[in-house]
Amino acid sequence: MTLPRVVPIFDGHNDVLLRLYRRGGTDAPRAFLEGGADGHLDLPKALQGGFAGGLFAVFVPSSEAPKNQGSDAKSKSPDEEPRPAPAVELLTVQKTAMGMVSLLLRIARESRGRVRVCRSVSDIQQAFEQGALAAVLHMEGAEAIDTNFEFLDVLHAAGLRSLGPVWSRPNAFGHGVPFRCPSSPDTGPGLTDLGKELIRVCNRMGILIDLSHLNEKGFFDVAAISNAPLVATHSNAHALSPHSRNLTDVQLASIRETDGFVGVNYSTSFLRPDGRRDADTPVELVIDHIEHILRQAGENGVGLGSDFDGAKIPSGIGDAAGLQNLVQGMRARGYSDQLIEKLCYRNWLRVLDQTWGHT
Ligand code: ZN
Repeated sequence: MTLPRVVPIFDGHNDVLLRLYRRGGTDAPRAFLEGGADGHLDLPKALQGGFAGGLFAVFVPSSEAPKNQGSDAKSKSPDEEPRPAPAVELLTVQKTAMGMVSLLLRIARESRGRVRVCRSVSDIQQAFEQGALAAVLHMEGAEAIDTNFEFLDVLHAAGLRSLGPVWSRPNAFGHGVPFRCPSSPDTGPGLTDLGKELIRVCNRMGILIDLSHLNEKGFFDVAAISNAPLVATHSNAHALSPHSRNLTDVQLASIRETDGFVGVNYSTSFLRPDGRRDADTPVELVIDHIEHILRQAGENGVGLGSDFDGAKIPSGIGDAAGLQNLVQGMRARGYSDQLIEKLCYRNWLRVLDQTWGHT
């Protein structure tokens, strides 16, 4: 068997909804469908690079007022804010979050079948077969969720199938890991009692719990409670880049024990040993992180989690159109076609199937 020239990729994290929300305008869905010079991800770039689907994040920055009034909001990216910011008001956050969910629903509606909001692995497989983009709704930070989990029911009905209890800031559910390099991910207390309840509720509803922005204590709080595989949708190896956002070998071993999964992040801050934001970072460094996590978490426990539209990424990838350069890097490393397929999408679909099956 030989792989197709363009290998399909399922991706663990992008922030295109935030980029489009900040852009504003009723034509924002069309901007995604028709593409443009801005940003890492839109439909034409996805088609060009083999970006066949992925988790689309709803993320509300700390400074974001409804309708783009945050004075410094535009300069910040979700994976690059320098320090944890204070908690944000529930109604304000819900309004912004609803705006971003609405954007994805409108993109799907206006796409006439070319973009689909997928709620199951069979939805994703069908989209793959029919050449449609498979979007899964994800929420990064549970600030929009009330203490009775009522908004979670509404979001689930809208398609939400993945949730990070915290972003890199404290909230009612726990303490996120602040952005520090070099730093251990052990930066403070983990989940609150409400956060622990949220994990149980997500297990019951079949919603994937994303570990990527938790600190070490929060990570192991989830590990102790959850009955699903442990998944970090967009994180790297702490052994290679000593950033607080990255996973230690002890965490990777714990992920392996649960048949869990890590999506490797292209953010240069989490790739480089010096933690710098610098597009002049070799694509090979992404492969180095894949290789380390392969050794620690196993051949079924690694895939991709780009952080497109949320981070500074290597110029050798550039944007979604350049994704096959990464596949070339895997080939150059001597990976078999079978392993490349696992890394590009099969492992992601495997862990989603196991997680969403827990309903
Ligand atoms: Zn993130």
